[in-house]
This record gives sequence, C-alpha cells and structure tokens, in this order.
Amino acid sequence: MNTSFIERRQFLTGIAKGAATLAISSLPSAEAKSDLPRNRKPTSGIANPAFRPLPLGSVTPAGWLQRQLRLQVDGLTGHLDEFWPDVAQSEWFGGKAEGWERAPYWLDGVIPLAWTLGDKNLQEKCEGHIKQIVAGQRPDGWYAPYPKDAASRRYDLWAILLVNKVLVQYHEATGEASVLEAVMRNLKAMFQILNEIPLFGWGKFRWFEGLISIYYAYEKTGENWLLDLARKLYAQGFDYMNFYAGKDVTIPTPRRGLWRWDKHVVNTGMALKAYALSSRLTQQESEGAFGTKMLDILDRYHGQVTGMFTGDECLSGTNPVQGTELCAVVETLYSLEHLISVTGDPAFGDRLERIAFNALPATFAPDMWSHQYDQQVNQVQCTINPDHMWSTNGPESNIYGLEPNYGCCTSNMHQGWPKFASHLWMRVDDGLAAVAHAPSSARFEKHGIPVRVTLDTDYPFRETLNLKVTVDKPVRFPLLLRIPAWAQNATIRIQGESLKRVKPGTFHRIEHEWKDTVSVTLQLPMKAKTSQRYNGAIALERGPLVYSLKIGENWTRVNTDKPHRELPHGDFEVRPTTPWNYGLLLDEKNLDTNVTFEELPVGEKPFSPEGAGVVAKVKGRRLPNWKIVHGWAAEVPPDPQDSREPLEQLTLIPYGCTNIRVTEFPRLRQ
Ligand SMILES: [Zn+2]
Repeated sequence: MNTSFIERRQFLTGIAKGAATLAISSLPSAEAKSDLPRNRKPTSGIANPAFRPLPLGSVTPAGWLQRQLRLQVDGLTGHLDEFWPDVAQSEWFGGKAEGWERAPYWLDGVIPLAWTLGDKNLQEKCEGHIKQIVAGQRPDGWYAPYPKDAASRRYDLWAILLVNKVLVQYHEATGEASVLEAVMRNLKAMFQILNEIPLFGWGKFRWFEGLISIYYAYEKTGENWLLDLARKLYAQGFDYMNFYAGKDVTIPTPRRGLWRWDKHVVNTGMALKAYALSSRLTQQESEGAFGTKMLDILDRYHGQVTGMFTGDECLSGTNPVQGTELCAVVETLYSLEHLISVTGDPAFGDRLERIAFNALPATFAPDMWSHQYDQQVNQVQCTINPDHMWSTNGPESNIYGLEPNYGCCTSNMHQGWPKFASHLWMRVDDGLAAVAHAPSSARFEKHGIPVRVTLDTDYPFRETLNLKVTVDKPVRFPLLLRIPAWAQNATIRIQGESLKRVKPGTFHRIEHEWKDTVSVTLQLPMKAKTSQRYNGAIALERGPLVYSLKIGENWTRVNTDKPHRELPHGDFEVRPTTPWNYGLLLDEKNLDTNVTFEELPVGEKPFSPEGAGVVAKVKGRRLPNWKIVHGWAAEVPPDPQDSREPLEQLTLIPYGCTNIRVTEFPRLRQ
C-alpha cells in the first residue's frame, strides 16, 4: 500500500456510494456537511463513538456469568503463567522463552478478567507482569523483546500493537501513570520507524489494532502527532475494503490449500472492526458501515449457524465439518464490541450474543482447562486425525488440550468472556445502554450522583430480564435496552406503569426521572425457528441459542508423553458413545407443536452437557448411510429420505453446552 492517506480517502469515498447504509434507526440523522450522525460529531480530532464502553471494573458479572468467569480463573487462564514456558518464562517478563505475542495475549484476557471480577490475587499477578514490561522498556522506547538491530532485520510490529492495547487496558483499570508514559514513548518510536520501514507481515494485516491504544492515548493527552501516527497505520495497512470488493474472498480455501494472509480467519475476525475504528479518524460513514458489509459477505460464503465463519485456517466455506479457530471466535467478539460502540447498531449486539453464547463456550471443555484449536458445527468426534478435512491446519486441531495444533489460542482465548462481560453496558447520551444481556450490574455517575443498574436473569436460558435502577438522589437519564431482532412481541414494564410493546431490532429508550429503586421487566419471547443450511440441512434455533444433538461422550487422554500435559491441563480425544446420525422431522410451519422446550436449573458449569439450562425435544430417525469420512468428518448426506428406522424422540441442548454434536441435520419429509 503506497497510496497516501488523502488518495486512499478519496478512493474509499468512491466506494461509499455503493455501500450498504447503516441501520442506526434510533440515532439522529446526519447533518448536511458531515457523513456522521450528530452524536458522533467530533469534539476533538476523532469522532465520538455512538456508545462509550464503561471503564474496566464498572461492570460486575452475576449469576451464571460470574460462575463462568470463576471457572476461568480456576482453569487455564488463572494458572497459565505458572507452568507454560511461553508465558511463565516469556522474554516480556525477563525470561528466555517466546518474546512475541503469547504473554501479551494472555495479559489481554487476564487484565479484564481480574478487574471485572475484582479478583485481588489476579490483579496482583497482572501488576507484577506489567511492571516487568514497563521496567524492560529501553530509553529508545522499544520494549525488551524488541531486538536492538530490529531496523536492519525488519521487525514485524504486530506484538507491539498488541502490547500497547494491553497496557492501556491496565492504565484504564489502575490509572498508573508510568504505564501510559511507557505507551507514549513507544508510540513515538513507532512513528519514527514507520517512516523508514513501512508495516509488513502481521502488523500490516492487523494495523487497526494500533488505533485502539493510539485513540486511548490521544483522548488522555490530546497530542496531535498521535493522530498522524494513526493515519500512517491506516495508509500502510492492508486494504480490506478493496479485498472485500473482489471475488477472491468468496472462494473457500481448498483441502490442503494455500495459507494466505488476506483470508486468514483470525485476521478476518479482527478486521471486522478495522473501518469502524478508522471512521473515527476519517469521519466517513462508509467506513463505519463496512463491518455490516463484511459480515454479510462472510455469512454468505463462509458462514455458520453460530454466527461465526469457518477458517481452518483460512476461510473455508459453509460446510459444517470445516473448522473455526478459537482465536477467530474471541477476536470476532472483540470486534463486535467495538462495532457496536462506534456505530450503535443493535444488530452487532445480536451477533455478539449469538457467538458468545454458542461458539465461544462450545470450544472449551466445561471446566475451562482445555480447548480446541478448531471447532466444527457438526463435530461427532475429536481425535488426532491425519486424514482431516482442514485447509492448512494439522491433525490435532479439534482435540481438547493444552495447545492443540499451535499455541496461539492457548494464549489468546482468555479475552473472550471477560471482555464480553465488561462490554455488556455502555454509556450513551449521558445515560446507559444495555448492549448485550447477561446477569450483571453496572455503576456510573450522573451529575455526581452514583447510579447502579442490576440485571437479574438466567437469559439466554430464560426469556425474562429483571432490571433494577438504584439512585441515591432523584436524577434523570436515558436507559437504552437492546431489543433483539428475533424478539417479536417483546414487552417492557416499568414499575407502576402498564405493559408496553417494544420494537425488535432497536434500542428501546426509556427517559425517566429515576428515584430510589425502580424495577424494569423486559420480556423477550423466544420462538423456535429453523434455518436452511449447507446441502439442504436444517438447524434449530430459539432466541440467541442454537440447539445441537446431545451425544454420549467418552474422553480419553492422549499426548501424555508431551511436556506440560500433567492433569488438569492434559490433552483429550472425545468419541461418541451414542448414535449421532439422525435426520430431523420438523414441520417448519408448526414448530410450536413439533418441538418442546424444557427449562432446567442452569448448572454450576453453565456450558456443559449436564448443566444445560434448557433442552429441546424433537423427533427424528437414524440414517444408517450417514457415516464418518476422512477420519471424523460427518458430511451431511444430500438425500436422507431412504431411512426405514423407527422415529425416536431426541434431546437437543444448547450448542454452547456440547463438546461433540450434530447441529445441521438432514431434513426428513416423513
Ligand atoms: Zn489461535
């Protein structure tokens, strides 16, 4: 990319004419001279986001979400730095092991986990590690692992973009001035080196990650050179808007195909937020709208019913036996948190929940000690398999383990839940918005008056959300509640007032003078629905949850001779102990009579087969000809109508509660 910022900006404006317009129905319309909605008009050198995330520590998880985060502290996340050399002896911490992305990745999840839970032990751990990084910074602004002769060796800046993002989170949580000063020194050094050596490699394809720490530093200091640095990253970075205007991105990477930067699944998940972030700098609404356009293309050519897209490890098409890398899941969630913040589009909240409640938990063992590299939507067996179907990943990619296939997910997986929790609530128009729903509370101040909002619910396993707004003194502010697009006939009741219908796919705005404690009850009716999938298959959904066949599991330990596989952080294969090859008999027009849902208590491990808070009962029959190929791939058969097997009642559980599963089923006609 050698085009200057100005040339590229004009080019992008050209593209804008054809771009989808952004659905921000609840926001004021754009003014004549600006592309941006009024509430995003810049009050400084960058435009305001539609919603502003609350400072780390302002949102506290409750109920099942708190249990989930505690599982994470007691699982791999809370202990990785105690035994895994690439974090424990990282060059970032003065050791001799990996000095690239792994330790910063781990901190990127542990910091929000520690401050969201208010876990003092974990906070102390973070403090020690951050102090080491800052102490290891050289006078020239580069951090310890950066080689002294980097300029002559062309050092890829990706890990630097990442660590600055980590450091500003820590600064936000603690206010520790030396940490922001370290970031400023490093950004200065980066500004200089980009004149000599433009971005390349990972840094070039992840340029927008740099904007996160730059904007943070700019909003704290107001120093204008920071925006010049942002423009430099933008100008030198890979042009995803151009790539997504072409046909190449629509073509699945073939089995044993070519590994590519531009179709790399993690780069893709990260890049979803690229132009929402840059739109704050360029103030082009077309850039703000690009996230929606990119998701549409991904859904169409590589989409899965979980809301994710495949990539094992480059974009792999819509077949449910293809894999999706865990790093891509957590990065897509983080992108969606930025997309909803910048644009205020409630559709990103729907997507955020869909991925967080399905693809995210499914890919971890319920105790969060082991994880997969690649998950499959139809995943009937997780075994070491040299005959696999992946494009470029290896034979161990779908087993549950410490570092199956490659250790990136082992270090990057930690950010998924904590960042989801810390982004549930955001500030808007001097009030508060619920952008995603899960049991939690949020604190902020309005005119110096402390406000506390709590959400008591077992959503997404239930339909009722009980909110309470508590204030010390009467105060007026808007409360915005996201009404998912699927929630037809949703209703709201504010204490003492009558029941009101609210519109799906919007933010419902409550303007109210809040006094003492006010209860608000939101009812989001979940109706069963099927969706049409690959090869004529169907999948069952209800509300934000996707349902999969509950399959008996046999876990066996493998790789016991490999280092660091002592329990509880061992590697496991999982095989089915009950039949999985069923077609479903579902009359889509009468789903209410074909499917029944049963509510159960949400388990101590909320995302485990036995902890499922809701199950579905459906009818189906076995398809004896549906067999595993290539070691474990359960390709959906094109013609399932020849089965003579008896009709059986089947139990489906939420996708996120499964470890092995069938999710896209052949459709039976009788
Ligand atoms: Zn990974």
